[in-house]
Amino acid sequence: MMTGTTTNNMLSFLDPAKPQPWASFIEQIDRVAPHLDKLGYWLDTLKHPKRVLYVGIPIHRDDGTLAHFEGYRVHHNLSRGPGKGGVRFHPGVTMNEVMALSGWMTVKCAALNLPFGGAKGGVRVDPATLSHAELERLTRRYTSEIGILIGPNKDIPAPDVGTNEQTMAWMMDTYSVNQGATVSGVVTGKPISLGGSLGRREATGRGVFVTAREAGLRQGIAIKDARVVIQGFGNVGSVAAQCFVAAGARIVALQDASGSVANPAGIDVDAAIALVKAGGQLVEMPGVEVISGDDFWLAPSEYLIPAALQSQIDAALAEQLDTKIIVEGANGPTLPEADDVLAARGITVVPDVIANAGGVTVSYFEWVQDFSNLFWSEQEINDRLEKIMAAAFHAVADLAAERKVSLRTAAFIIACTRVLAARDRRGLYP
Ligand code: NAD
Repeated sequence: MMTGTTTNNMLSFLDPAKPQPWASFIEQIDRVAPHLDKLGYWLDTLKHPKRVLYVGIPIHRDDGTLAHFEGYRVHHNLSRGPGKGGVRFHPGVTMNEVMALSGWMTVKCAALNLPFGGAKGGVRVDPATLSHAELERLTRRYTSEIGILIGPNKDIPAPDVGTNEQTMAWMMDTYSVNQGATVSGVVTGKPISLGGSLGRREATGRGVFVTAREAGLRQGIAIKDARVVIQGFGNVGSVAAQCFVAAGARIVALQDASGSVANPAGIDVDAAIALVKAGGQLVEMPGVEVISGDDFWLAPSEYLIPAALQSQIDAALAEQLDTKIIVEGANGPTLPEADDVLAARGITVVPDVIANAGGVTVSYFEWVQDFSNLFWSEQEINDRLEKIMAAAFHAVADLAAERKVSLRTAAFIIACTRVLAARDRRGLYP
């Protein structure tokens, strides 16, 4: 008999005081309305998620107490294919946030012309406070609870903040056991040994770098000797940093959950990665100056890469940034009012729906490989990724120049046109 309970507080999605990323998404959608011609008829479709699922996740803690966590899975739009989107484990996750993230996945998959709709999931938990065994129990119970929505032809989860290859291995195993068959295509971002794809782990950071380089090309900003500031030093931020350094740029400031560090001569990225991998924190690094959060954001740079969480750059901060190109590694880091300030100041924003689409693009490759049971070389993956990302970026940049709109609005025009054209062709049932 287990003893004790960890009582949970009010369900987070009932709390109106939380920041509302879904409102940012709706505002971005509204900005596309004047550009959709007859397809505008269907625009409201994008303001209503197709379905949202709340799941309660009880687990036994190692000490014998009972704990409950909140989990979610949202299908935003499935007009163009099965849902695709990550699973976030973070104490700040809310239903509202997951809804917004699912909407951005709809737009992202369509902007890249991948045959997926948009989905997202999350659990309101700080994974660092759970043991490995507790995390496994949480992941398996969550997977089982959302089992009514996921499947290789229905909705294919992937890693996001706080989840990784191991999480995907547990999800794949749990789903497979429940199905009575090994179904590797139910998640992407899996270990290679379970049908994962070469190059998947690095894909988002690599894609951030490719779009940054292409944006720089259009503005006459070389990567070589460029100063780069990166917020978030996880999967996306650390790989993007490595790509920039390999191309001759300097990472002059970094921030993660532990704090901010700077070195105008360039931070040793490999040493920082080794430190974090070994369980250390950026602020403990030798050879860097620990700086305040304000100084981090104000560090002069050619490229600023937010690669942590959403809602980081508001209008007041946008007024002060000293950079030329912002490349959104994170989802939703720039608030709509900040977009306007940045546009007025001539600072380019390469939007998340293009900039961080490398991950979902290689997830698509992984899903295709799982279905065909034919696996590609890393070179083949990286070549295809580079080609798709560069082409998608330039299509967006060309449209932005033609319509005199931001890159974000141009990406939304391309994506929403594809999604709503599919909606229009499919028609409404009944
Ligand atoms: P991760 O968990 O590997 O890393 C997150 C990083 O952000 C860590 O360095 C963490 O310390 C830092 N961080 C967390 N809270 C912070 C705070 N309050 N201030 C500063 N730093 C903070 O996550 P990731 O996979 O690198 O994802 C980062 C962002 O990129 C997220 O917005 C995610 O949605 C987006 N993204 C990820 C992928 C992917 O393939 N992993 C794909 C597309 C978009």
